[in-house]
Amino acid sequence: MSVTYKVCIDPGHGGEDRYNRGKNGYVEADGVLDISLKLRNELKKCGFYVLLTRETDKTLSLTERASIANKWGADLMISEHSNAAGSETAKGVEVIHSIYGGKGKEFADMVYDEMIKLMSGRRVYSRKGKNGDYYAVIRKTDAPCVIIESGFHTNLEDEKLLLNPNFRTQIAKAQAKAVCELFGVKYIDKVEYENKTEHWVEPIYKELHELGIISEKRFDDAITRGEYMAGLKKLLDLLQGESHEPKEEPQPVPKPKEEPQPILTSKEKPKYRQIAATHILEVDPLSLTIEIVKKPGNQIQGDFVNGGFFGTLDGMMVSVSTLVSDGKILAEQLAHDDVKRGTLVVYKDGTTQVEMIDFISKHPKINDIKFAVSGFNLNPLDIKGEWFNPEEVGYSTQRVSMGYHVEKKKVIIAIRNHSDAERAVLTMKNLGCDHAICLDSGGSANARFNGKSIVTTDRKLYSIIRWQD
Ligand SMILES: [Zn+2]
Repeated sequence: MSVTYKVCIDPGHGGEDRYNRGKNGYVEADGVLDISLKLRNELKKCGFYVLLTRETDKTLSLTERASIANKWGADLMISEHSNAAGSETAKGVEVIHSIYGGKGKEFADMVYDEMIKLMSGRRVYSRKGKNGDYYAVIRKTDAPCVIIESGFHTNLEDEKLLLNPNFRTQIAKAQAKAVCELFGVKYIDKVEYENKTEHWVEPIYKELHELGIISEKRFDDAITRGEYMAGLKKLLDLLQGESHEPKEEPQPVPKPKEEPQPILTSKEKPKYRQIAATHILEVDPLSLTIEIVKKPGNQIQGDFVNGGFFGTLDGMMVSVSTLVSDGKILAEQLAHDDVKRGTLVVYKDGTTQVEMIDFISKHPKINDIKFAVSGFNLNPLDIKGEWFNPEEVGYSTQRVSMGYHVEKKKVIIAIRNHSDAERAVLTMKNLGCDHAICLDSGGSANARFNGKSIVTTDRKLYSIIRWQD
């Protein structure tokens, strides 16, 4: 599998903020930018996607830095700094992580351990502020975020190290090793990289090629403005939902002409495609069914996606969702859950919509319903109003959403990694669905589309949704 983790690097300060400096000419804004550029090189060799909050000497607020990482959907944010103290004796590495621990703390420990092989260490810590984390970049960034203080520029020994470009390369390599360790990716050092037969961009090329965005390999050749624009246009079309099938390779033996494939008729098979990180399946609403399974996802055969939300009550596995299949009510929400939840309803005539429903058995048109499943409504999004805990169901995770495309008359099931509830709203809107719900996600996410396993879980699922070919 190719690596698709996104690491955002934030070189601290810059632009109007260039005051932090050492006695012998080191300027923090420039030093950390150089470390960041070097770290980018290292990470790219290992197959990561990398974005810098700034690549030049420019002014950025802390909020802007966090929002660059958030909009991009970073998996990790590294804010690069060097330290200052009133006392010239203070020296060594410090790494700051969120007070909430998690993956950021894990990374903080890893990167500290790597960096103290190069220079002295001081501490790994977190700091509490009025509203959560004290440091804004950690508080405001959605992804795990650490601040790395690569020594004190107010200490003469540390400044001497920081002034040395080779030492800054060593810092970048140490940090890259820790990133690789965090994500379980093999670290590729320069020598190894040059001896490798596969070009470092090969995995990225494969993905872009599969999406039909790129067809030429010549990785180290320059491109013309025209080629660049054509590439952007293909990307734009993709984002707007037009699929660009990759060009067929010429066949050695010419195949006899086959019947043209029907495009988007109601008899068409479920259509699977992938746009960037989103896996998408388009199905006929009337082909949908639900089964109660109470089985681990990885023991279930065939194509399916996990169904609605469930939980345990007195040790029993129970559905907290509405589930209707082929006109039969398989589950209704618990009696004390006296609250309306976003429910995707397919009527027997094919009409499909998202309704807010509490007890499906009391639905005025219950006899006309063929299929229904509830989750939480994405439009309007009001997780608390549907009695879910936003931290339990809205966080960034493997997210399964289901919506209805009015013009295509298709139900669209989408699954995307690193997606919180708001991101799901956008995803479904981009896919043309104004009516959509989120199904159970996170550890319950499980999807197999057209025989391709997108996510598999060993967690027991209460119900699954299937569709007929
Ligand atoms: Zn700083």
